[in-house]
Amino acid sequence: MTSEVIPYGRQLISAEDEAAVLEVLRSPWLTQGPAGPRFEAALAARCGAAQGVAVCNATAALHLACLALGVGPGDTVWTTPNTFVASANCARYCGARVDFVDTDPATLNICVSALAERLAAAARSETLPKVIIPVHFSGRACPMDEIGALARRYGVRVIEDASHAVGATFQGAPVGDCRFSDIVVFSFHPVKIITTGEGGMALTNDPELARAMIRLRSHGISRDPAEIESPDGPWYYEQSGLGFNYRLTDMQAALGLSQLSRLDAFLAERRRLAERYHARLAHLPVGLPAPCPESAWHLYCIRVDASRRREIFERLQRDGIGVNVHYIPVHTQPAYKALGFAWGDFPAAEAYYREAITLPLHPALGDDGQDRVIAALEKALQ
Ligand SMILES: *Cc1c(COP(=O)(O)O)cnc(C)c1O
Repeated sequence: MTSEVIPYGRQLISAEDEAAVLEVLRSPWLTQGPAGPRFEAALAARCGAAQGVAVCNATAALHLACLALGVGPGDTVWTTPNTFVASANCARYCGARVDFVDTDPATLNICVSALAERLAAAARSETLPKVIIPVHFSGRACPMDEIGALARRYGVRVIEDASHAVGATFQGAPVGDCRFSDIVVFSFHPVKIITTGEGGMALTNDPELARAMIRLRSHGISRDPAEIESPDGPWYYEQSGLGFNYRLTDMQAALGLSQLSRLDAFLAERRRLAERYHARLAHLPVGLPAPCPESAWHLYCIRVDASRRREIFERLQRDGIGVNVHYIPVHTQPAYKALGFAWGDFPAAEAYYREAITLPLHPALGDDGQDRVIAALEKALQ
C-alpha cells in the first residue's frame, strides 16, 4: 500500500482557525484573557445552557463536575461500561466507588430498564449512587427524559458525558441544555466533533455548581470580593479549598470559538457520510448502527462475526484503514479488575465489544476516502 492511512477520526483546521490562534499569540493574553469567557458564552448559548466552564480536557471537566456535586469517599457513582475510561475514573479521583449499568444492545447507551431495576434495588438496600453518568455513545443521545425522571425519583444527580455529542439533539433540543441533568460535559480532543487540541467544557444551569467548578479549576482560589471571607487589600486572593490548575489557554479557546462557527457544517458532513455508509454497506454481512438523524455521528461502529473480528480488523489495517474499537468495556481493564470486576459482569457491553469495529468517519474523510474504506471492508469480509 502506498496511500496514506485513513484515520478513524481527525480534526479539520481552516485558515480562519489558524488566524484566530495567531491573533491570540500576538495579543497580551495567552491564558485567562478574553477568549476563554467568549468561548464559554458561545457554546452555552448554542446549547441553551446558562453557563459554561472551559477546562483543559473533558476528563478534568468530569472530575470538577463530580466534586461540584459533592462526590467523595463513601459515595458511589454509576456509569456505563461501553465508554472511555475517563467516564469512570473521574469518580475514583474523588475517592468514590464506581459501578456500572449494562448497555442497551440497540443503542449501545446505558440501558434504562436495567438502570430502573438497579435503582429500585439500591433504594431498598440503601446503596443508591450519588451521581449517574450516562454517556451519549457515538453522538447518539441517551433517553435523558427517562434517565432524568429516574434520577429525580431517587434523588440521584446526573452528569451527562457528552464528549461525543457536541451539536447532537435529543427530542429536538440541543444536548447540553441540562434540562434533564445537573451538568453536561463536552470534549474537544482532535477526534471529537470540534477541537481545541486538548480541551473540554462543563455546562450547567445552576450558578452554584458553575461557581464551584470555576473555583476548583483554578486552585480553589477566588478573587471575587463577594466570595472572600477575610479581605486584606486589593492584592488579596483567597484559597477556600483544594483546587487544581485545569484552565484552558486563550489560544485553545480561540480555536474552539472558530471551530464552533463551523459546527453545523461538520455535523452535516458527518451525517451525510453516515447515511452514505448506511446505504453502501447495507448489502454486506455486518451490523450497522441504527439510523439517528439527531446524532452528532462522532463514531460509526459496525458489528461483525465475533469469530472473525480480529482477522477483519487486521485486514483493514493492512489496507491502510485506521480502524479502531470503541470500547473495551471499562470493567475488564486491569485497573478495574483490581477492584473486583470481572468478564461476565456486563454481558451486553461485552458481547458488543467482541463484534465491534469503528470505521473512519470525520469531515476530512470525503467520498474518495470513504469509498476506499468501503472497498477495503468488502475485500476483508470475503
Ligand atoms: C474523549 C472522551 C473523554 C475524555 O475526553 P478528554 O477531553 O480527552 O479528556 C471522556 N469520555 C468520553 C466518552 C470520551 O470519548
